[in-house]
Amino acid sequence: MVDTKKVKENIQRMTNRVASSTSGKVQPHKHCRVCFRPIKLTAEPRVCSDQACIDRNIRDEKNERQMKIWMFVFLGIFAFSFLGPMLLRML
Ligand SMILES: [Zn+2]
Repeated sequence: MVDTKKVKENIQRMTNRVASSTSGKVQPHKHCRVCFRPIKLTAEPRVCSDQACIDRNIRDEKNERQMKIWMFVFLGIFAFSFLGPMLLRML
C-alpha cells in the first residue's frame, strides 16, 4: 500500500527545495554544453565529467573548426571574385 503521509512529505520536501533554490541566491555556474547539467564555473572545456559529453565536445569542436575554415575559404573566394576584377581594372 502507498503511504500517503510519506508521499505528501516527499512532495513537500521537493517543493521546498525548488522554492529555496529559486528564491535563494543562485551560485554562479555554467552548464555543460552537451547535456546542460550545471558544472563548475572553472570547468574547461565547458562540459561535465561525463565521458560521453567530453567526446561529444571534442567532436563538435572539430566540426566547428572545419566549418570556420570552410567559411573563410568561401569568404576568400567571394572577396577575390569581387576585388579581383576591381584590382585588374586599376592595373
Ligand atoms: Zn554533460
